[in-house]
Amino acid sequence: MKEIKDLIIKENVKMSEYTSYKTGGEVLYYVYPKTIEALQELMSYIFKNNIKYFVIGNGTNIIFTDEFYDGIVINLSKLEEIKIENTIIEVSSGYSLQKLVSEASKLGLTGLEFAAGIPGTIGGATYMNAGAYGSCIFEKIKYVKYLENGEIIKKAKEEVPYGNRYSYFKDNKKAIILSITIELSHEDKNIILDKIKEYTQKRIQTQPLEYPNAGSVFKNPETISAGALIDTKLNLKGKNVGGAYVSEKHANFIINKNNATSNDIIKLIEEIKRVAKQKENIVLQLEQEIIK
Ligand SMILES: Cc1cc2nc3c(=O)[nH]c(=O)nc-3n(C[C@H](O)[C@H](O)[C@H](O)COP(=O)(O)OP(=O)(O)OC[C@H]3O[C@@H](n4cnc5c(N)ncnc54)[C@H](O)[C@@H]3O)c2cc1C
Repeated sequence: MKEIKDLIIKENVKMSEYTSYKTGGEVLYYVYPKTIEALQELMSYIFKNNIKYFVIGNGTNIIFTDEFYDGIVINLSKLEEIKIENTIIEVSSGYSLQKLVSEASKLGLTGLEFAAGIPGTIGGATYMNAGAYGSCIFEKIKYVKYLENGEIIKKAKEEVPYGNRYSYFKDNKKAIILSITIELSHEDKNIILDKIKEYTQKRIQTQPLEYPNAGSVFKNPETISAGALIDTKLNLKGKNVGGAYVSEKHANFIINKNNATSNDIIKLIEEIKRVAKQKENIVLQLEQEIIK
């Protein structure tokens, strides 16, 4: 591995320490660029040498397989600049979405309350257009800045394809999100805090937050929510493979209850999909991502 200025390099890291499922095998290199220049130099080295790589945010929406990963995982959490001008915020991809929700509330800026309790980074949230309670991050975005083929590109939201839990970046894995610019609006701080409290309470009541998990496993099919399908139609609450269980609290969550491996989680996903197809003729689509 080439030495690059402002690049922190760790070797033979266990991905179970960097994923919210607490599963995943070892990876050869785990690196943190501290500047965009370091990231640019790293990417040019990676492409020149045809090295396998993966950009990680907070690891809260992924299943990293148990096999050894002979490549580089790039963690952007050191890119965490934030610039606030009145209602406009430019925030780097490594910044925590939770921290942003909290900063905005302190400033009396409304628009991000829906994201209270989504435990990812700005990069991860933009990549999958994270959302809840009828809102999503792209609704607030004005511009996205990203690195593609060595070039820094800034595009208005209208020029970037996005949709339900989808963005351009899902189909263009070579593009790395650097920052987003969002626009919020002024509101009474107490009203904002009340909303955040309400959403947080809802999550505590309905989601199995006491166990390692990675949020919703499947996208909602057209006719029924994935949770209701798995619970009432497929009767799979509590079903397990090894240490991975379908949560009793929310059937669209898989929890790592007892030292699960990624393989357990993947096998349980396959089983749920199989039963959904067999019993209801529904093809479930994965919301989480399996990284090999
Ligand atoms: C308890 C819990 C509740 C959740 N609730 C919700 C919810 O309500 N709504 C929701 O949408 N999600 C939810 N999630 C899922 C997850 O938190 C979000 O999808 C989050 O936005 C993922 O961000 P991350 O930084 O953890 O991404 P990661 O899991 O690290 O990565 C996800 C994908 O984003 C890509 N990526 C990350 N950063 C970049 C970047 N800078 N450039 C390009 N690609 C990048 C990765 O390569 C990967 O493909 C929940 C998860 C948990 C554990």
